[in-house]
Amino acid sequence: MATETSQDIPELVERLVAGDKRALARSISLIENGDPAGAELVGAVFPETGSARVLGFTGPPGVGKSTLIGSLTKELRAADRKVGVLSIDPSSPFSRGALLGDRIRLSEHFLDAEVFIRSMASRGALGGLAEASLQAALLMDAAGKDDVLIETVGVGQAEIDIVDHADTVVLALMPGSGDSIQALKAGVMEIPDVIVVNKADHPLTDTMVREVRTALSLGPQQGWKVPIVKTEAAKGIGVSELLTQIDAHGAFIEQEGSLEQRRARNLRNEVLALAAARTKRELEQLAADDEEVAALLERVVRRELDPANAARELMERQRGD
Ligand code: GDP
Repeated sequence: MATETSQDIPELVERLVAGDKRALARSISLIENGDPAGAELVGAVFPETGSARVLGFTGPPGVGKSTLIGSLTKELRAADRKVGVLSIDPSSPFSRGALLGDRIRLSEHFLDAEVFIRSMASRGALGGLAEASLQAALLMDAAGKDDVLIETVGVGQAEIDIVDHADTVVLALMPGSGDSIQALKAGVMEIPDVIVVNKADHPLTDTMVREVRTALSLGPQQGWKVPIVKTEAAKGIGVSELLTQIDAHGAFIEQEGSLEQRRARNLRNEVLALAAARTKRELEQLAADDEEVAALLERVVRRELDPANAARELMERQRGD
């Protein structure tokens, strides 16, 4: 792919904002490749963003998130909404493409001009949502998507992080997975706004729903009451009910005034997350390249200097103090 020059950016911005799918794909690639033109582009379109609804989907692998997103996309398209799907795999060090094979379940939407699907690995950002994926979501918003669906694959920190970037978080579970209930009880997932029990064709579905309800009853009792929706994503069953609940949550937080607070908090968190990721990269670079830093780390290994004081010295050095 030809590298973008600054002269090309205004044209790309124009096409992107007009909703051109190829311009969006190219813009995301610039971001993903760390091309400075990408940063320029995001800067230029940022004022155009803020109108998309961002939905986060999380849950263990194999519960049917992709299938669910495929069916939900169908519902959203029937309501004439433009959809962006961003699939993030925090466990994969590989870049896009590696995941596309898995996303076959979304293939019926590939030809729809108003649906944009992209898989990304969250390279570098251990546990966090990748810097590039946050910006990709902004680009989808700028390209006029009404709904941006962010899917985080896998369990762990990413499930927690998604809260910082979505208006509504959907946690997908399936019958017969006791781990999820344990996680809910442990409060790790005081995160979801809507819970889906997918694979409702499974005989243990109602048991699972009861267990989830019990786990939720241990959590906060005020404000939004987290609904539990049973779905059979593969057949599209229950998916319109899921959309109804997602809409209801959106209406609730908007009316309550917390949507604005959430978005303000999310943007603040995003700035901090980006700054933290960059600082980490710089520090790692420093540790790799600077002989004095290597010597400092060596002193820690020899137990002459404790880690906290070494960290302080490292940061002072990075700031150029
Ligand atoms: P993800 O890893 O959470 O994205 O899960 P996938 O969407 O890739 O689905 C995992 C598997 O579950 C696939 O083989 C799907 O066909 C299957 N699946 C999805 N929804 C259902 C369902 O409602 N019932 C059953 N029995 N299988 C389903």
